[in-house]
Amino acid sequence: MPDIKELTDLMRSKSKQDVALVTSAYRFAKTAHSGQKRYSGEPYFVHVFETAKILAELGMGAKTVSAGLLHDSIEDAGSDPNVIREKFGDDVLFLVKGVTKLGKIRYQGVKRHVESLRKLFVATSQDIRVLIIKLSDRLHNMRTLEHVPEHKRKRIASETMEVYAPIAHRLGMGKLKGELEDLAFKFVHPKEYQKVRELSKDKYKESERELEKIYKKLQKLLAKEKIYNVDTDYRRKHLYSLWRKLKRKNMDIDRIYDISALRVIVQTVSDCYRVLGVIHGKWRPLPGRIKDYIAFPKPNGYKSIHTTIFTGDGGIAEIQIRSEAMHLEAEYGIASHVKYKEGEGDANRFDWFKQFLPSISIGNGAPDNVDPDKAVKDMIDAKDIPNWIEELVEAQMEVSAPHEFMENLKSDFFEDRIFVFTPKGDVIDLPEGSSPIDFAYQIHTDIGDHIAGAKVNGKLASLDTKLENGDIVEIQTKHSSKPKRKWLANTKTTLAKRNIRSALNQNKRS
Ligand code: MN
Repeated sequence: MPDIKELTDLMRSKSKQDVALVTSAYRFAKTAHSGQKRYSGEPYFVHVFETAKILAELGMGAKTVSAGLLHDSIEDAGSDPNVIREKFGDDVLFLVKGVTKLGKIRYQGVKRHVESLRKLFVATSQDIRVLIIKLSDRLHNMRTLEHVPEHKRKRIASETMEVYAPIAHRLGMGKLKGELEDLAFKFVHPKEYQKVRELSKDKYKESERELEKIYKKLQKLLAKEKIYNVDTDYRRKHLYSLWRKLKRKNMDIDRIYDISALRVIVQTVSDCYRVLGVIHGKWRPLPGRIKDYIAFPKPNGYKSIHTTIFTGDGGIAEIQIRSEAMHLEAEYGIASHVKYKEGEGDANRFDWFKQFLPSISIGNGAPDNVDPDKAVKDMIDAKDIPNWIEELVEAQMEVSAPHEFMENLKSDFFEDRIFVFTPKGDVIDLPEGSSPIDFAYQIHTDIGDHIAGAKVNGKLASLDTKLENGDIVEIQTKHSSKPKRKWLANTKTTLAKRNIRSALNQNKRS
């Protein structure tokens, strides 16, 4: 049986109270699942224990870790929710119920799956920790997928690829997303997986040897420039993202320059640019491959500077430069933010979060509870919920057909995103293929409802223009303008479509 110490050792906060709560959840779950086995033959308890460990590694607090231990107790062990409430409080019960699927009797098949997903998002819109627990649960299930009967494996792996990995991506949880994708890749495309492994085996080592040489030279240069406290790490491209790139490059591995990258982690933003200067002073960069994601973060908040250089002996290498805070955010995303809220960091480190997930208000944020722990209360303050989750809940509540729900989910939230700007420089995050109409509705319903024309990058553009990353979009409005039916074909977001439909209906009535 797993030892509780293995779990408590991983926890950032080891206060008496926290350890006591987790220990009590450990005992409760162990008893609840006693006698149950997983497909692997291991005790079922191992699964909830490993889920809790992932949460502790992500830096989650004692309540979330406890909820991880208890997450299957209602659904799979028939535990009484009231007992959980009594023993662990409203907050933990809310989290456990949030990840519990809907009853098997009332819902079946696809419907159960989709309705459970919808329920998950509703709970998430009140407390982001629900989603973090679900992702950790999924990660452990994926790590042990080989034991699951074959006919189920592929379905679980596809769902991971289509729903959970994109969610992790949108939450900025790069590490978790990469692992989920690679685990799913093996089962969704087994042949391709093997092929990419074969192709890349020697390349990784070769590339890392090259990077090591560069780093040794770079180290000396940085010392000369008095840039200290530099950390490095080699980033191996995940197999799944390597495969996607290979497909675009005719499966020619020699055309992939970033199979491994050298990561240089420094203390401050200005050090990032100084390091870039030092690198470009020594090695010539490949034109057009310098990406400044600090000045232009990716829509999910990712920040770094990437550059690709000629190594001087015929090779080409990628170097990524970032501050320590950016590094944490890139690896753990929203989880690193939650951790800060538990009082272990400084607020400014997570300013990207405020920038990209504008504050929203949800009527009654957290579950009804009076918690003496102020830090936790702050954390579940509605402001921490990314606004796309709220939008998702709002837009999907009225959709009744399960397949429609899944379609909207994919197109609104998990397709590739672009980011475009208002004339004032505010960033608007949209799915690829969006038009000025989508943009207008994203800003305000009133603007969408009265579009008269649009300018893209200062030039007049038709309303069916497909916007591109970095476009500056200006909407002209006229009070007498009204949404037209044909707009429906030129919009991508559910938000725009829903508003257009409702305006059309209103016009018909009046
Ligand atoms: Mn589970």
